Amino acid sequence: MNEIYLGAAVLCMAAVLFLESLSPLHAAGAPLRRWARNGALSVLAVGTTLATPLLFWAVAGPLGLTMQGGLVQWGWPVWAQWVLTFLVMESMAYALHRLSHAMPWLWRLHAVHHSDVELDATTTHRHHPLENLVGALLTLPVLIALAPPPLAVLAYSLVALAVATLSHGNLRLPAWLDRGLRWLVVTPAYHRVHHSAHRPQTDSNYATLLPLFDHLFRSATPVPPDGGRGLTMGLERGRDARSQSLAALLRAPFSAAAAPVAEAARPRAARDGA
Ligand SMILES: [Zn+2]
Repeated sequence: MNEIYLGAAVLCMAAVLFLESLSPLHAAGAPLRRWARNGALSVLAVGTTLATPLLFWAVAGPLGLTMQGGLVQWGWPVWAQWVLTFLVMESMAYALHRLSHAMPWLWRLHAVHHSDVELDATTTHRHHPLENLVGALLTLPVLIALAPPPLAVLAYSLVALAVATLSHGNLRLPAWLDRGLRWLVVTPAYHRVHHSAHRPQTDSNYATLLPLFDHLFRSATPVPPDGGRGLTMGLERGRDARSQSLAALLRAPFSAAAAPVAEAARPRAARDGA
């Protein structure tokens, strides 16, 4: 399973970087240093990035779950188990992401992802190593309780991986295509709004795969007519080279004074002076 997911991650990254070279939304200025930093963070986080499906896979055997999963015992047809698995996984991802913006200690970890001052495929796995570990520990009990078919969990993870890599891409899709697709699936323009430095936009468009959840829970922000090209990516603070070093990003969640990234961790009410 590790190999399948890791191989898919590398393949998705290469494919989206290739597409970016064909049709970029904006010219990337000297990206090599950024790419190296994002690559290093990705490698550090990779074990935990994969933690939820892999930990699930690891415990599936010892817990006696078969390849067909626990839902079989409820008498659900296979297609219904798969649909339910996708909906459960996506709703968990939505809930965890929304919590990561609402709870200050989770935001401190998640802000490392948002602190990238440009957005491209290499941002996809730029996470603080602890963030995904915490996420896995929070979501794993739900997976164990529901015991969905492990193959369906892997399938959701692969689809989410492909969509997440594409939606972080520095890509210019034809406006009509992006507009049509984003009713169904998260697109680059839709997710670009989420990476805007303007906090009300940052705190919206949380979905990984299905914008449906943002529409259902009233957290969708419309994409600007320019497809988000004019938006400033990143956070308001921590944009200087020192704050963007690998060491500073790893320290950022724990350092309120030294890390402007953590500065953004204050609840919005406090930031607005309310
Ligand atoms: Zn986010």
